[in-house]
Amino acid sequence: MSVLDHFTWEELLEVMEREARRRHAPVYEFKKHITTPFRALVAVLLSSRTRDETTAAVTKRLFQRASSPEELLKLSEEELAELIYPVGFYRVKARKLRELARVLIERHAGEVPRTFEELTALPGIGRKSANIVLARFGKSAIAVDTHVHRISNRLGIVSTSKPEETERELHRIVPEELKIKLNRAFVAFGQVVCKPVKPLCDACPLAEACPKIGA
Ligand code: SF4
Repeated sequence: MSVLDHFTWEELLEVMEREARRRHAPVYEFKKHITTPFRALVAVLLSSRTRDETTAAVTKRLFQRASSPEELLKLSEEELAELIYPVGFYRVKARKLRELARVLIERHAGEVPRTFEELTALPGIGRKSANIVLARFGKSAIAVDTHVHRISNRLGIVSTSKPEETERELHRIVPEELKIKLNRAFVAFGQVVCKPVKPLCDACPLAEACPKIGA
């Protein structure tokens, strides 16, 4: 059984987004500050092992001081660490951010590259981060983080054990034009309804179509 026996992809994403907006999912506040591919790159680097609310507050503060590789490189590692505290591993990330800015300036004329291979070659940027940035460029990328992986399995859309497998499966079955919308809808829904622990199944608008209710 899969939620897709009851909803089209378009309906599914719409239901998820509507419920998540009603519950003020943090991702919507966070995305307000992510207006350029460079900002998306910095935000995904900062977001690992960090609560979304914290990343949102920190990116807002950081982008007021520096929103380009050149401006970022003018800040010392100590200044950066202070600015991005309390994101997880803030000292390591401060160093990585300076490395990232330097590589962008030296190898890409200060621009964010537009291919998966170039993006994943940047310091601190992995598969998920690269896909988030590609989606900012309007490319049909599917960024699979823990929310996307967990919810896709709970809803019976895929049956996978690793995010890379989920990404491959979703690429096969999600309509092309909806791929760039998927990450935000799933992340938002995962933050406020289908949470990792104690999902709100009793109040979930997908409950009747969900094979893993209460998982
Ligand atoms: S019913 Fe529960 S497990 Fe299924 S999608 Fe809703 S919150 Fe997630």
